[in-house]
Amino acid sequence: MAATKSGVKTATKKAVKHTANGTAHGAGHSTPEPFFKSVERNFDKASSALGLPRGLAEQIKVCNSVYYFNFPVRIRGEIQVIQAWRVEHSHHKLPTKGGIRYSEMVDQDEVMALAALMTYKCAIVHVPFGGAKGGIKINPRNYTDEELERITRRYTSELIHKNFIGPAVDVPAPDYGTGEREMAWIADTYMAFSGSQDINALGCVTGKPVAQGGVRGRKEATGRGVYFGLRQAFTDKDHMKRLKLTTGLEGKTVVVQGFGNVGFHAAKFLYEAGAIITGVIEWDGAVVNPKGINVVDLDQYRIEHKTITGYPKGKTIKDATSVLEYECDILVPAALESQITSYNAANIKAKVIAEGANGPITADAEEILLKKNTFIIPDMYLNAGGVTVSYFEWLKNISHVRFGRMAKRFEENSQLRFVHAVEELVGRRFSGVERDILTRGASEEDLVNSGLEDTMITSYEEIKEYWHTNPQIKDFRTAAFVSAIDKVATTYRQLGLFP
Ligand code: NAD
Repeated sequence: MAATKSGVKTATKKAVKHTANGTAHGAGHSTPEPFFKSVERNFDKASSALGLPRGLAEQIKVCNSVYYFNFPVRIRGEIQVIQAWRVEHSHHKLPTKGGIRYSEMVDQDEVMALAALMTYKCAIVHVPFGGAKGGIKINPRNYTDEELERITRRYTSELIHKNFIGPAVDVPAPDYGTGEREMAWIADTYMAFSGSQDINALGCVTGKPVAQGGVRGRKEATGRGVYFGLRQAFTDKDHMKRLKLTTGLEGKTVVVQGFGNVGFHAAKFLYEAGAIITGVIEWDGAVVNPKGINVVDLDQYRIEHKTITGYPKGKTIKDATSVLEYECDILVPAALESQITSYNAANIKAKVIAEGANGPITADAEEILLKKNTFIIPDMYLNAGGVTVSYFEWLKNISHVRFGRMAKRFEENSQLRFVHAVEELVGRRFSGVERDILTRGASEEDLVNSGLEDTMITSYEEIKEYWHTNPQIKDFRTAAFVSAIDKVATTYRQLGLFP
């Protein structure tokens, strides 16, 4: 499929000017396997369980297009040359989709790995996109808002010039270090270039503010999806028994690493469901409290003090990474990749690891954890809530209408007629509050959250089915990969490209 793309896009082998150098993040003590290698290793395990022919497996595995570029930006009177990437992993479905990350640690290996995970993630949750990812190698903390805007707009115009962005081509979204604000700048730049030519221009990026074509519920979606996924896992009586856990999230102890978009929202929904958040880990320190942390209160403290350290209702731990090894039922790594490596895996005590971040566990670490019977709910399923709701946002943008706008009032009127009929039958009138609850039509946010909930439940059960029916599949991650690869392979076969 890569060959059908414009000549501007180079095939992977030719375009790779920057050798993969592994990720520099991690628990910091050992050199983890390069991230893309780790993803490939997991892929190989799954594709052999599925018995895919070699050519087809290779086509699914490789990155179809890799765009590495440098661009100049004037910063405080000096020109800075900034490194950036956009990788489209799979063109089996278009547009491609994936976040843009701002981090000093970004390199080509990381962007390729994250793009590949996006392909599998979209397939798992039935989002009809190929996977992509972007990265700019900067530490956003070193730039003013105005400088970040200039960098973002210049990055976007480079993508436009090379046809690496557009509602039918490739649709970025927020990721580590970016949010609604950056997405609004990207949309505005794209629209300035496309002028009146593209009526669907707003669909060139998702994760925008609601007033700029975003969808209600997108900001919280990834964290909410983490919660729905965990909730579903904790309904499985037999499995919980094997893990020596009871069903349900109430009373379960949780440690969360990364208190950003994903980590904060996951922690908030888990907290609201009655889980006890005993530890929150950030880059500059962790806060622990065995009795539980009110995460909304901690967030307020963070907003005021620009750090979670020193929070008075918990104990601050300077060696933040050590808190990954604290006793807890559920560990939610929601910061960066390669946080649990062969160095610290043996010391992890959590019975369940819920991957909010992409790639937080290296393949070596996973082997150690699986031997200890740790249940790992993998990134490509668990954090797919973001792309699911991004898909809803894209649908909203290209259909040019808010979800629920056509049906809400009609639903309310029908339900009201039903309520009147029941009142007549039973000879009593409902109270105003009861009547409001019974007749309320679904708002955009209700529909988005319900679509997300259904997606996370259905996809979990599909993966479980693969896991339980194929004896070659030993763990949930392999089952998730198989669920994804099977769908991508079916698309290629139906396109007539492979027997
Ligand atoms: P974010 O920038 O909003 O938050 C990341 C948080 O992690 C920040 O608070 C940061 O200070 C903290 N952090 C950085 N280094 C750390 C370290 N060494 N230890 C502990 N904390 C550290 O980013 P995000 O959007 O929440 O993304 C987090 C992860 O989730 C990434 O792996 C990303 O790829 C993944 N993800 C995000 C989305 C999304 O919708 N935003 C969707 C899917 C996956």
